[in-house]
Amino acid sequence: MRPWYGVDFDGTLVHYEKWQGATHVGAPVPLMVERVKKWLDEGKDVRIFTARVYPLMTVMPNDNIDQVLSRFEEVTSRHVEATQAVLAIQTWCKEHLEKVLPITCVKDYGLVELWDDRAIQIIKNTGLRADLDEWAGETDEPFIMMGAEVIQSARIAPQKIYLHPFTLANMLSRPDGAHVEIGYGSPDPLDLPQSTVLKMCKLKE
Ligand SMILES: [Mg+2]
Repeated sequence: MRPWYGVDFDGTLVHYEKWQGATHVGAPVPLMVERVKKWLDEGKDVRIFTARVYPLMTVMPNDNIDQVLSRFEEVTSRHVEATQAVLAIQTWCKEHLEKVLPITCVKDYGLVELWDDRAIQIIKNTGLRADLDEWAGETDEPFIMMGAEVIQSARIAPQKIYLHPFTLANMLSRPDGAHVEIGYGSPDPLDLPQSTVLKMCKLKE
């Protein structure tokens, strides 16, 4: 199955505050639009992943909307509203991406990345949040101890750090959260350059 990148529409590609009808489209989000254009230049398969297309499920760029509707035994007002939303998104695609993208609300095994303002990323196989939002309260003097050596550095993005659960448990068991020994040899060892500094936090009570 060809890998594809799913990109949410409202709040991700375009500004979104509240629902203003099927045909309303917010202002483009420049950083995200440029990112998608770069992917398209690289030949990546990018699809807009949005609930707006529900219950039509998937509409490809060359699909005729009447034919899409003919797939359904019963066409409800919800189906009609989705067609209006699809047409609005396709028009937006032409204007801002110079290419109409597939629009879908269906996840299949080809999905390799999902970009969505509502998504909470968890670190694979751990249940831990990759954004560490559940952490709070930095210690005064953040540092990592590796063996007897204290390694200090500039902070790196928390989502770049993949800790083995046992390592994490070890960190959290320290009352002040500051003196932490990072062990190597775990399935997902830390691979930090000597100059790198970890942001140490304590768990919220
Ligand atoms: Mg969204």
